[in-house]
Amino acid sequence: MDAFTNTIEENKTHLSKLDNPIGDGDHGHNMSRGVKAASEALNSTPPKTLSEVFKTVAMSLISKVGGAAGPLYGTAFLNMSKYIGDNETLSKEQIASMLEEGLNGIKTRGKATTGEKTMIDLWEPAVNHFKENGTLDASIIDDYVEKTNPMKATKGRAAYLGERSIGHTDPGATSSGLLFKTLIDTAGLS
Ligand code: ADP
Ligand code: MG
Repeated sequence: MDAFTNTIEENKTHLSKLDNPIGDGDHGHNMSRGVKAASEALNSTPPKTLSEVFKTVAMSLISKVGGAAGPLYGTAFLNMSKYIGDNETLSKEQIASMLEEGLNGIKTRGKATTGEKTMIDLWEPAVNHFKENGTLDASIIDDYVEKTNPMKATKGRAAYLGERSIGHTDPGATSSGLLFKTLIDTAGLS
């Protein structure tokens, strides 16, 4: 989470810039508010278990982030917290299942699926790749992020633009790419 907070801070302006042409230009700032709130909560009441870490992050994202992305990420972290349960360490297989639970939370909460130009277009292929191959790397993640560029948005704010959403990379898929790249580095998934 510390590494994710840092990468969100570094990419805050970029993420909001991506949200300008197909949204309202706040995605980086929303994410920044969320990870800062999560850091504060983790520091003020240090969680005793791995599951509690994810739950604390979830609650901060749900309650402190205005915009669609907060509750979507929050639901992902909440589902991952539930999956973790009493485990304090996870195998690669368990990490894959944990991520799949997170993905399912996003899909249920946002009533969206792949091909709609959202963060799901990062999460689903990334989770599937990891499940099938047991590895993930940054260049694969970057590919999935870029694949949202030619898509037409049919969910979220970008859907109001219809055809004009084509040719822009989705901000939520981009921030999700940062989350996965952080996980690849910190959990050694490559
Ligand atoms: P808002 O659109 O409310 O301003 P953000 O700018 O923080 O919220 O987040 C926008 C991102 O949220 C989009 O780029 C997209 O990836 C994601 N998103 C929006 N709606 C959905 C949905 N229904 N399902 C999945 N992801 C979504
Ligand atoms: Mg926005």
